[in-house]
Amino acid sequence: MPRFPHATGCFSGAARAAVDRKRAPASICLVNSEVIQKLRASVRDVPDFPKKGIIFKDITPILKDGTLFRASIDLFLERFRGRRIDKIVGIDARGFLFGSAVAYELGIGFVPLRKKGRLPYKTESAKYSLEYGEAEMELHIDAITGGEQIILIDDLLATGGTSASAATLIQKVGGQLVEAIFLIELEFLHGREKLTPTPVTSFLKY
Ligand code: AMP
Repeated sequence: MPRFPHATGCFSGAARAAVDRKRAPASICLVNSEVIQKLRASVRDVPDFPKKGIIFKDITPILKDGTLFRASIDLFLERFRGRRIDKIVGIDARGFLFGSAVAYELGIGFVPLRKKGRLPYKTESAKYSLEYGEAEMELHIDAITGGEQIILIDDLLATGGTSASAATLIQKVGGQLVEAIFLIELEFLHGREKLTPTPVTSFLKY
């Protein structure tokens, strides 16, 4: 069985058909395993950032390359094929980069989950611990309508603390979290266990 069973054919074409939008084709239509390989090769390991002992997975080399950035968005879009999703919740800040591009492509709403003190209206909040520290995040109380089907997006799943508290917040305001999707997963940290029973998808596993 392929490692990425959903990933078949040309992503750009498939995802484009799924969302029924017309846009210029990517200059290079990469096949899936090639996409994964190229994306993996482009993630830059930065040791001891933001503190000693952490190997930071830097995605900016993907973002700055138009073909790779589009290919990464197409990976996410592939997961939405044939499903009714009402909104995407993206985690501050790199979850915004992927989540908003996907929401735009699908024509659905995007909800930012922000670090404490950044959202102007009334919020629900939750504390969480990171691989490299402690933090608190907030969600506008009216960002989600009761019963809406939500997908949570972030760049990376590490210990799962961030996304588990995101899941709590989404459910607190009445959303139904149907899946959490990440570009990268640090599998050795077992973060997906914290999200149980929410299904978790990631594309680049370490
Ligand atoms: P966690 O709550 O431990 O799953 O951490 C996930 C959040 O922290 C995500 O928003 C990531 O962007 C960020 N993060 C944690 N560890 C790393 C890492 N090693 N490299 C890059 N980002 C990370």
